[in-house]
Amino acid sequence: ALDADWAERWVRRTADAIADAKGELTELDRQIGDGDHGENMDRGFRAVVARLDDPAAQPGAGDERTVGDVLKLVATTLMSTVGGASGPLYGTAYLRAAKVSGRPQIDPPAVVAVLEAALEGVSSRGKATVGEKTMVDAWQAAVDAAEAAARDGGSEVDVLRVAAEAADKASTATIPMVATKGRASYLGERSAGHEDPGARSTALVLGAALAAAL
Ligand code: ADP
Ligand code: MG
Ligand code: MG
Repeated sequence: ALDADWAERWVRRTADAIADAKGELTELDRQIGDGDHGENMDRGFRAVVARLDDPAAQPGAGDERTVGDVLKLVATTLMSTVGGASGPLYGTAYLRAAKVSGRPQIDPPAVVAVLEAALEGVSSRGKATVGEKTMVDAWQAAVDAAEAAARDGGSEVDVLRVAAEAADKASTATIPMVATKGRASYLGERSAGHEDPGARSTALVLGAALAAAL
């Protein structure tokens, strides 16, 4: 099972991965948006790590820290530090995920529930569905793959591995799409030929979840 320490490693690895990819994310957003996605995500996850490093801001109470405690800290921090579309979208994703993981440990079906809740948060907040060239494409692919792996009796690592791989593929698959939601939709047909920055950052987030579980 995965515990709150895994959740903290997930978040710290996400911050590292986002910092490494800051330039790449910004460049993707420069092509079909306003060129701030790397900066937005990096600011947000730096703030999350600062809170995790602050003894006075520790998530949860005492020794029964839950996965949800950690994810809720991420949600509130992203909502208050990341502007633009991605702050509220990721904030809602982590908040919904926190609501279904208020336990010290989560098993494979509960890992799937976390991913489903995150997808539900993004899609209810952004009103986008699959094929609109947004981060929903990556989250939905991850959820579909995770559900299948858990149904087949896969372990936590199996579930996270297929989710991360599916999100990575789905992000690449946004390249030929025409955006119909978010800033990239202002470009219409000219949005085709570029990868969606939010789908790429979602793949990084889920890659970090896997790395933290290995
Ligand atoms: P902004 O567009 O406000 O500058 P960011 O650059 O941080 O915000 O984030 C852009 C990303 O947000 C896009 O690449 C896309 O994945 C995601 N996004 C934008 N609008 C929506 C939406 N309505 N639903 C889902 N995702 C969206
Ligand atoms: Mg932007
Ligand atoms: Mg912006």
